[in-house]
Amino acid sequence: MEKQYFCDELNNVISCFHDRIMSCCSGQIGPVYYEAYKGEKIDWDAFKKIKTDAFKLLNEKDIDKSPCQGCFFLRDKKQTDIVSPVFNMINISHWTHCNCGCIYCARMLDSKGKIDTKSRKSDYYDIVPLIKQLYKQELLDRKNLVAVIQGGDISVLKEFEPMVKEFLKNGVKEFHILTNNIIYQPVIKKLMDMDKVQLFTSLDCASPDIFYKLKRVDKFKDCVNNLRKYAKGHQNPRIMVKYIVVEHLNDNIEEIDKFIDLMQDIGIKTVEFTIDNKWAMFTNLEEKPLPLHYGELYLHFKKACEEKNIIMNVWPKTEYIINKYALKCI
Ligand code: SF4
Ligand code: SF4
Repeated sequence: MEKQYFCDELNNVISCFHDRIMSCCSGQIGPVYYEAYKGEKIDWDAFKKIKTDAFKLLNEKDIDKSPCQGCFFLRDKKQTDIVSPVFNMINISHWTHCNCGCIYCARMLDSKGKIDTKSRKSDYYDIVPLIKQLYKQELLDRKNLVAVIQGGDISVLKEFEPMVKEFLKNGVKEFHILTNNIIYQPVIKKLMDMDKVQLFTSLDCASPDIFYKLKRVDKFKDCVNNLRKYAKGHQNPRIMVKYIVVEHLNDNIEEIDKFIDLMQDIGIKTVEFTIDNKWAMFTNLEEKPLPLHYGELYLHFKKACEEKNIIMNVWPKTEYIINKYALKCI
Protein backbone atom coordinates (compact mmCIF):
# COMPACT_ATOMS: atom_id res chain seq x y z
CA MET A 1 0.00 0.00 0.00
CA GLU A 2 1.14 3.52 -0.77
CA LYS A 3 2.88 5.21 2.10
CA GLN A 4 1.03 8.18 3.66
CA TYR A 5 2.62 10.96 5.67
CA PHE A 6 1.28 13.33 8.29
CA CYS A 7 2.40 16.53 9.95
CA ASP A 8 1.01 17.67 13.30
CA GLU A 9 2.24 21.22 12.67
CA LEU A 10 0.31 21.41 9.42
CA ASN A 11 -2.76 20.04 11.14
CA ASN A 12 -2.72 22.20 14.25
CA VAL A 13 -0.71 25.34 13.69
CA ILE A 14 -1.20 28.63 11.90
CA SER A 15 1.70 31.07 11.88
CA CYS A 16 1.18 34.77 11.22
CA PHE A 17 4.56 36.08 10.18
CA HIS A 18 5.32 39.62 9.07
CA ASP A 19 5.73 38.55 5.44
CA ARG A 20 3.28 35.65 5.12
CA ILE A 21 0.63 33.62 6.88
CA MET A 22 1.69 30.00 6.78
CA SER A 23 1.43 26.61 8.40
CA CYS A 24 4.44 26.21 10.59
CA CYS A 25 7.60 27.73 11.95
CA SER A 26 9.73 24.70 11.26
CA GLY A 27 12.45 26.63 9.48
CA GLN A 28 11.28 25.11 6.19
CA ILE A 29 8.74 27.06 4.15
CA GLY A 30 5.80 24.68 4.21
CA PRO A 31 2.31 25.38 2.87
CA VAL A 32 1.57 29.11 2.72
CA TYR A 33 -1.97 30.41 3.35
CA TYR A 34 -1.34 33.99 2.27
CA GLU A 35 1.76 35.66 0.81
CA ALA A 36 2.70 39.25 1.73
CA TYR A 37 -0.48 39.88 3.75
CA LYS A 38 -1.13 43.58 4.34
CA GLY A 39 -4.54 43.47 6.01
CA GLU A 40 -6.66 43.08 2.85
CA LYS A 41 -9.88 41.04 2.63
CA ILE A 42 -9.17 37.30 2.63
CA ASP A 43 -10.92 34.73 0.42
CA TRP A 44 -11.60 32.30 3.26
CA ASP A 45 -12.69 29.38 1.06
CA ALA A 46 -9.40 29.53 -0.83
CA PHE A 47 -7.58 29.93 2.48
CA LYS A 48 -9.16 26.79 3.98
CA LYS A 49 -8.54 24.78 0.81
CA ILE A 50 -4.78 25.26 1.12
CA LYS A 51 -4.59 23.00 4.18
CA THR A 52 -6.77 20.32 2.57
CA ASP A 53 -4.69 20.42 -0.63
CA ALA A 54 -1.43 20.30 1.33
CA PHE A 55 -2.51 17.09 3.06
CA LYS A 56 -3.44 15.54 -0.31
CA LEU A 57 0.23 15.72 -1.32
CA LEU A 58 1.46 13.88 1.75
CA ASN A 59 1.81 10.46 0.15
CA GLU A 60 4.64 8.58 -1.51
CA LYS A 61 3.48 9.41 -5.04
CA ASP A 62 3.03 13.17 -4.60
CA ILE A 63 5.49 14.09 -1.87
CA ASP A 64 8.01 15.51 -4.35
CA LYS A 65 5.39 18.17 -5.30
CA SER A 66 4.91 19.16 -1.64
CA PRO A 67 6.83 21.99 0.07
CA CYS A 68 6.94 19.61 3.05
CA GLN A 69 9.26 17.20 1.29
CA GLY A 70 12.30 16.41 3.43
CA CYS A 71 10.95 18.22 6.48
CA PHE A 72 12.12 17.06 9.88
CA PHE A 73 8.52 17.10 11.21
CA LEU A 74 7.02 14.83 8.57
CA ARG A 75 6.10 11.39 9.92
CA ASP A 76 4.22 8.26 8.85
CA LYS A 77 0.46 8.61 9.04
CA LYS A 78 -1.34 6.62 11.74
CA GLN A 79 -4.89 5.32 11.40
CA THR A 80 -6.04 7.68 14.14
CA ASP A 81 -4.75 10.82 12.37
CA ILE A 82 -7.58 13.09 11.25
CA VAL A 83 -7.25 16.44 9.52
CA SER A 84 -8.78 19.02 11.85
CA PRO A 85 -10.90 21.95 10.61
CA VAL A 86 -9.48 24.17 13.39
CA PHE A 87 -6.05 25.22 14.53
CA ASN A 88 -5.20 24.75 18.17
CA MET A 89 -2.03 26.80 18.04
CA ILE A 90 -1.50 30.24 16.56
CA ASN A 91 1.97 31.73 16.25
CA ILE A 92 1.90 35.50 16.19
CA SER A 93 5.00 37.03 14.80
CA HIS A 94 3.76 39.86 12.58
CA TRP A 95 6.17 42.55 13.71
CA THR A 96 9.93 42.84 13.83
CA HIS A 97 10.78 45.83 16.00
CA CYS A 98 12.55 45.19 19.24
CA ASN A 99 14.23 47.05 22.08
CA CYS A 100 17.42 45.05 21.88
CA GLY A 101 19.57 43.71 19.07
CA CYS A 102 20.63 40.11 19.65
CA ILE A 103 23.43 39.16 17.34
CA TYR A 104 21.66 35.87 16.56
CA CYS A 105 18.29 37.48 15.78
CA ALA A 106 16.54 35.75 12.88
CA ARG A 107 14.79 39.06 12.11
CA MET A 108 17.93 41.09 11.76
CA LEU A 109 17.52 41.29 7.99
CA ASP A 110 14.00 42.70 8.34
CA SER A 111 14.58 44.94 11.35
CA LYS A 112 17.99 45.97 9.97
CA GLY A 113 19.31 45.67 13.51
CA LYS A 114 17.44 48.84 14.58
CA ILE A 115 16.75 49.08 18.30
CA ASP A 116 13.27 50.56 19.02
CA THR A 117 12.48 51.81 22.46
CA LYS A 118 8.99 53.21 21.80
CA SER A 119 5.91 51.07 21.42
CA ARG A 120 4.26 51.12 17.98
CA LYS A 121 2.21 49.09 15.52
CA SER A 122 3.61 46.49 13.17
CA ASP A 123 5.00 47.83 9.88
CA TYR A 124 3.13 45.03 8.09
CA TYR A 125 -0.45 44.50 9.33
CA ASP A 126 -2.65 44.67 12.42
CA ILE A 127 -3.18 41.34 14.14
CA VAL A 128 -6.35 42.04 16.17
CA PRO A 129 -8.66 42.29 13.10
CA LEU A 130 -7.11 39.08 11.75
CA ILE A 131 -7.68 37.24 15.05
CA LYS A 132 -11.33 38.39 14.98
CA GLN A 133 -11.75 37.03 11.45
CA LEU A 134 -10.09 33.71 12.30
CA TYR A 135 -12.53 33.25 15.18
CA LYS A 136 -15.45 34.28 12.98
CA GLN A 137 -14.42 31.67 10.40
CA GLU A 138 -14.29 29.06 13.20
CA LEU A 139 -10.65 28.41 12.39
CA LEU A 140 -9.42 28.76 15.96
CA ASP A 141 -10.19 26.21 18.65
CA ARG A 142 -12.15 28.05 21.36
CA LYS A 143 -11.25 25.61 24.15
CA ASN A 144 -7.75 24.37 23.50
CA LEU A 145 -6.05 27.20 21.67
CA VAL A 146 -2.48 28.03 22.57
CA ALA A 147 -1.60 31.56 21.47
CA VAL A 148 2.13 31.88 20.96
CA ILE A 149 3.24 35.49 20.86
CA GLN A 150 6.78 35.68 19.55
CA GLY A 151 7.66 38.40 16.97
CA GLY A 152 10.06 41.22 17.83
CA ASP A 153 9.42 42.16 21.43
CA ILE A 154 5.99 42.68 23.04
CA SER A 155 7.20 45.70 24.99
CA VAL A 156 7.40 47.70 21.76
CA LEU A 157 4.21 46.33 20.20
CA LYS A 158 1.13 48.52 20.64
CA GLU A 159 -1.20 45.60 19.97
CA PHE A 160 0.16 43.38 22.75
CA GLU A 161 -2.51 44.02 25.37
CA PRO A 162 -5.43 44.35 22.89
CA MET A 163 -4.51 40.98 21.37
CA VAL A 164 -4.35 39.32 24.79
CA LYS A 165 -7.83 40.74 25.54
CA GLU A 166 -9.20 39.50 22.21
CA PHE A 167 -8.03 35.94 22.90
CA LEU A 168 -9.39 36.00 26.45
CA LYS A 169 -12.74 37.25 25.13
CA ASN A 170 -13.05 34.50 22.48
CA GLY A 171 -11.58 31.54 24.30
CA VAL A 172 -7.96 30.55 24.74
CA LYS A 173 -6.43 27.78 26.77
CA GLU A 174 -3.16 29.57 27.40
CA PHE A 175 -0.55 31.95 26.11
CA HIS A 176 3.07 31.25 25.37
CA ILE A 177 4.79 34.60 25.45
CA LEU A 178 8.33 35.03 24.20
CA THR A 179 10.00 38.19 25.37
CA ASN A 180 13.47 39.53 25.92
CA ASN A 181 12.11 40.49 29.37
CA ILE A 182 13.82 43.86 29.44
CA ILE A 183 10.55 45.56 30.43
CA TYR A 184 8.27 44.13 33.12
CA GLN A 185 4.70 43.58 31.89
CA PRO A 186 1.98 43.61 34.58
CA VAL A 187 -0.40 41.86 32.16
CA ILE A 188 1.94 38.86 32.07
CA LYS A 189 2.04 38.72 35.86
CA LYS A 190 -1.79 38.78 35.89
CA LEU A 191 -1.93 35.93 33.35
CA MET A 192 0.61 34.06 35.43
CA ASP A 193 -1.52 34.41 38.53
CA MET A 194 -4.46 33.07 36.46
CA ASP A 195 -2.24 30.13 35.37
CA LYS A 196 -2.82 31.10 31.75
CA VAL A 197 0.68 31.76 30.55
CA GLN A 198 4.10 30.30 30.02
CA LEU A 199 6.84 32.85 29.68
CA PHE A 200 9.85 32.14 27.49
CA THR A 201 12.93 34.29 27.50
CA SER A 202 16.58 34.04 26.53
CA LEU A 203 19.10 35.25 29.03
CA ASP A 204 21.95 33.25 27.48
CA CYS A 205 24.48 34.05 30.18
CA ALA A 206 24.99 35.20 33.74
CA SER A 207 27.38 38.09 33.11
CA PRO A 208 26.40 41.67 32.19
CA ASP A 209 29.38 42.04 29.81
CA ILE A 210 28.50 38.90 27.83
CA PHE A 211 24.84 39.96 27.81
CA TYR A 212 25.85 43.29 26.29
CA LYS A 213 27.93 41.60 23.60
CA LEU A 214 25.06 39.26 22.76
CA LYS A 215 22.20 41.74 22.85
CA ARG A 216 23.79 45.15 22.31
CA VAL A 217 21.94 46.73 25.25
CA ASP A 218 23.06 47.12 28.82
CA LYS A 219 19.98 45.53 30.40
CA PHE A 220 21.19 42.39 32.12
CA LYS A 221 20.15 43.58 35.59
CA ASP A 222 16.66 44.57 34.38
CA CYS A 223 16.13 41.11 32.91
CA VAL A 224 17.25 39.36 36.08
CA ASN A 225 15.11 41.64 38.29
CA ASN A 226 12.08 41.06 36.09
CA LEU A 227 12.56 37.30 36.28
CA ARG A 228 12.60 37.61 40.05
CA LYS A 229 9.36 39.65 39.97
CA TYR A 230 7.55 37.13 37.77
CA ALA A 231 8.80 34.15 39.77
CA LYS A 232 7.84 35.71 43.12
CA GLY A 233 4.89 33.96 44.77
CA HIS A 234 5.11 30.91 42.50
CA GLN A 235 6.50 27.63 43.81
CA ASN A 236 6.89 26.41 40.28
CA PRO A 237 6.85 29.45 37.98
CA ARG A 238 5.89 28.69 34.37
CA ILE A 239 8.95 30.43 33.08
CA MET A 240 11.47 28.89 30.72
CA VAL A 241 14.82 30.59 30.34
CA LYS A 242 16.93 29.78 27.32
CA TYR A 243 20.65 29.54 26.96
CA ILE A 244 21.40 30.05 23.29
CA VAL A 245 24.98 29.01 22.67
CA VAL A 246 26.84 31.54 20.54
CA GLU A 247 30.33 30.77 19.34
CA HIS A 248 33.18 32.70 21.03
CA LEU A 249 30.82 34.42 23.49
CA ASN A 250 29.05 32.06 25.89
CA ASP A 251 30.24 28.70 24.54
CA ASN A 252 32.08 27.70 27.66
CA ILE A 253 31.45 25.61 30.74
CA GLU A 254 32.17 28.45 33.22
CA GLU A 255 29.34 30.60 31.85
CA ILE A 256 26.96 27.64 31.77
CA ASP A 257 27.69 26.90 35.44
CA LYS A 258 27.13 30.55 36.40
CA PHE A 259 23.86 30.58 34.44
CA ILE A 260 22.51 27.43 36.13
CA ASP A 261 23.47 28.82 39.57
CA LEU A 262 21.65 32.06 38.77
CA MET A 263 18.53 30.19 37.68
CA GLN A 264 18.55 28.25 40.91
CA ASP A 265 18.94 31.47 42.89
CA ILE A 266 15.96 33.11 41.11
CA GLY A 267 13.80 30.00 41.47
CA ILE A 268 13.55 29.13 37.77
CA LYS A 269 12.70 25.46 37.38
CA THR A 270 12.98 25.02 33.61
CA VAL A 271 15.75 26.04 31.23
CA GLU A 272 16.48 25.29 27.62
CA PHE A 273 19.74 24.51 25.93
CA THR A 274 19.82 25.58 22.33
CA ILE A 275 22.12 26.69 19.54
CA ASP A 276 21.73 29.80 17.46
CA ASN A 277 19.79 29.78 14.20
CA LYS A 278 22.95 30.07 12.15
CA TRP A 279 23.52 26.40 12.96
CA ALA A 280 19.94 25.26 13.53
CA MET A 281 18.52 26.64 10.29
CA PHE A 282 20.87 28.49 7.99
CA THR A 283 23.94 26.28 7.63
CA ASN A 284 24.33 23.13 5.62
CA LEU A 285 25.97 21.07 8.32
CA GLU A 286 27.18 18.49 5.84
CA GLU A 287 29.36 21.19 4.29
CA LYS A 288 30.24 23.38 7.28
CA PRO A 289 30.74 21.44 10.51
CA LEU A 290 29.07 22.33 13.79
CA PRO A 291 31.70 23.26 16.43
CA LEU A 292 32.48 19.93 18.06
CA HIS A 293 32.67 21.29 21.61
CA TYR A 294 28.89 21.98 21.39
CA GLY A 295 28.39 18.29 22.20
CA GLU A 296 30.47 18.63 25.34
CA LEU A 297 28.59 21.81 26.36
CA TYR A 298 25.27 20.04 25.86
CA LEU A 299 26.30 17.13 28.09
CA HIS A 300 27.68 19.50 30.72
CA PHE A 301 24.49 21.60 30.69
CA LYS A 302 22.45 18.43 31.18
CA LYS A 303 24.56 17.29 34.12
CA ALA A 304 24.50 20.72 35.76
CA CYS A 305 20.69 20.80 35.51
CA GLU A 306 20.40 17.33 37.02
CA GLU A 307 22.62 18.33 39.93
CA LYS A 308 20.53 21.45 40.66
CA ASN A 309 17.20 19.72 40.09
CA ILE A 310 16.32 21.98 37.17
CA ILE A 311 14.43 20.64 34.17
CA MET A 312 16.33 20.94 30.89
CA ASN A 313 14.35 21.35 27.69
CA VAL A 314 15.79 20.79 24.25
CA TRP A 315 14.01 21.46 20.96
CA PRO A 316 13.96 18.10 19.10
CA LYS A 317 15.77 19.66 16.15
CA THR A 318 18.59 20.96 18.39
CA GLU A 319 18.92 17.56 19.99
CA TYR A 320 19.02 15.91 16.59
CA ILE A 321 21.74 18.29 15.35
CA ILE A 322 23.85 17.93 18.49
CA ASN A 323 23.58 14.16 18.41
CA LYS A 324 24.30 13.85 14.72
CA TYR A 325 26.98 16.51 14.24
CA ALA A 326 28.71 16.90 17.60
CA LEU A 327 28.18 13.87 19.83
CA LYS A 328 28.76 11.11 17.33
CA CYS A 329 32.30 12.45 16.98
CA ILE A 330 33.20 12.61 20.69
S1 SF4 B 1 5.99 18.99 7.19
FE1 SF4 B 1 7.38 20.59 7.86
S2 SF4 B 1 7.19 22.20 6.32
FE2 SF4 B 1 5.38 20.88 6.15
S3 SF4 B 1 3.89 21.86 7.45
FE3 SF4 B 1 4.90 20.28 8.65
S4 SF4 B 1 6.47 21.36 9.73
FE4 SF4 B 1 5.83 22.68 8.04
S1 SF4 C 1 14.85 39.77 21.63
FE1 SF4 C 1 14.18 38.48 19.94
S2 SF4 C 1 13.44 39.90 18.40
FE2 SF4 C 1 14.65 41.08 19.84
S3 SF4 C 1 16.67 41.16 18.89
FE3 SF4 C 1 16.62 39.44 20.34
S4 SF4 C 1 16.08 37.66 19.09
FE4 SF4 C 1 15.55 39.50 17.92
